[in-house]
Amino acid sequence: MMMNGIGVSPGIAIGRAHVLQKQEAALTGIVLLNAADILIEIEKFNNAAAVSITEVETMISNYDTSQGSEGFDILETHIELLSDPQIKDDVTEKISKDRKNVNDAVIEVIRDAMQLFKNMDDEYLSARAADVQDIGDRLLKNLTTTDKTSTQQYKPDTIIITEDLTPSDTISMDIKHVIGFATQAGGKTSHAAIIAKSRGIPAVAGCGPQLKNIQDGDILILHGQTGQVMVNPGQDIIDQYIIQRDAYLAQASLLRSIKDKPAITTDGTAIKLFANIGDAADMEHALGFGAEGSGLLRTELLFMGRDALPTEEDQFEFYKAVALKAKGKPVIVRTLDIGGDKQLPYFNFPAEQNPFLGYRAIRICLDRKDIFITQLKAILRAGAFGKLKVMFPMISNIQEIRAAKVILQEAMDELEKTDVPFDKTIKIGIMIEIPSAALTADLLAKEVDFFSIGTNDLCQYTLAVDRMNEKIKDLYDPYNPGVLRLIAYVIEQGHKHRIEVGMCGEVASDPKATLLLLGMGLTEFSMSAASIPQIKNIIINNSLETAKQVHQRVMEMDSSQAITAYLQEINA
Ligand code: PEP
Ligand code: MG
Repeated sequence: MMMNGIGVSPGIAIGRAHVLQKQEAALTGIVLLNAADILIEIEKFNNAAAVSITEVETMISNYDTSQGSEGFDILETHIELLSDPQIKDDVTEKISKDRKNVNDAVIEVIRDAMQLFKNMDDEYLSARAADVQDIGDRLLKNLTTTDKTSTQQYKPDTIIITEDLTPSDTISMDIKHVIGFATQAGGKTSHAAIIAKSRGIPAVAGCGPQLKNIQDGDILILHGQTGQVMVNPGQDIIDQYIIQRDAYLAQASLLRSIKDKPAITTDGTAIKLFANIGDAADMEHALGFGAEGSGLLRTELLFMGRDALPTEEDQFEFYKAVALKAKGKPVIVRTLDIGGDKQLPYFNFPAEQNPFLGYRAIRICLDRKDIFITQLKAILRAGAFGKLKVMFPMISNIQEIRAAKVILQEAMDELEKTDVPFDKTIKIGIMIEIPSAALTADLLAKEVDFFSIGTNDLCQYTLAVDRMNEKIKDLYDPYNPGVLRLIAYVIEQGHKHRIEVGMCGEVASDPKATLLLLGMGLTEFSMSAASIPQIKNIIINNSLETAKQVHQRVMEMDSSQAITAYLQEINA
């Protein structure tokens, strides 16, 4: 039998199923008759809250941060929720006004709070309902039991099968014996998934009700990347997966061992490896993978998860949080890059024949100076709390850079009139993602402090291939010699004019491209955090000299087929 879910934490687990049945908390319907009972019930709640806080504090002090800080942060959130006056007030009101007993009051308050989170559009925030449920379960447990040592002991090589896991379940999991888990519910952003990933436990979520067919003791193979769960497979399949599992473990341990090593080629060229991020949590996560900063903060994520434009203050807090999490490491903040596939529900985009060639990114910002200047002021102010740089997207000509710089100067002039601190010497850069910008890199380099090559758009505009269109996806090919020539030219011109050149498009995270890009002279790569160790491994095992030869060979080839075949071969 084979089941399919979503792979949420990589690795392969081979073991026996342990099916966890969750007890649903039930309402009792008991009504309190006198005032003395009300006081007793409120007192019971206060005690349960205090015991719960102590339990979570103990979990925090026992937390092994070598397994990542995600679980730690989640537990701190639980302390905040358990101490939240709103929850306490709501429970107290249900007891004193509605005369409900404490059990029913807690169930109802938690249920309402969970609903509030679940209704949020943002996937991450709506997944936080699991935290509310988690503290609710804890409160209910502490209302009914005094047993505080209920951590279960499992047999070796156990794979947990359950409807859903709360963050606490996952954190307190006995990872000596639990080697994986599969859940009916949940997805990539559930806390259980995040913690599993940071602890290196393979996990599959969202398997649906089919998971109920698994019995205690069934032999399982769980694949944390593909999301497959195989039930009672034959010995030949088990043997095959043991080989895959061991190869994965060897690779993972190698990558872990180089996390804190600098990315320097064997002949001494230092390379900067940055992460592409969407918010402060991503920044923190990225440091765990050895990122030396961020080469791209996509600020549109802040604009997307809401129903109105964020204010200067909202944005300031958001960028400041990122700057603080980066702990002095550089962060390139890209100004609003909306339009094309990135729509805002509250922003009236005109109907266009070709949105990717239309009113978008810097074009909107130069047209809607009110939006642009607000964002620039927020970035400048947050720059006082870390090393932020500002970057303009979708630049197609020199006038756009000059116009953007005039507005940046206006933003500084406005801030100068106040006494708020801001970064007066912020570095200014542009994305090179439109062919005209790449071809005039020599001219544009004189206007800015740095370039960042956006291969995702550069590829689509150079090849006239819509990056979102499945039907022509084979034509979307960054190894097309035309695209590679543009990239090489931008890097060359950047160096010639002594400005920094990085790359934040997806090609930066493709191991096939690493030597080629190094050979072209690229020294800053920005990518999804999880890709950093793999790219670093290539850098520290090769010389710049070899990379230059690879570049030379590639430039002599006439098709992307020949280029990719060659790059694959040298990487094998
Ligand atoms: C790019 O175009 O390469 C890029 C990094 O920007 P985005 O993917 O956000 O368009
Ligand atoms: Mg782009």
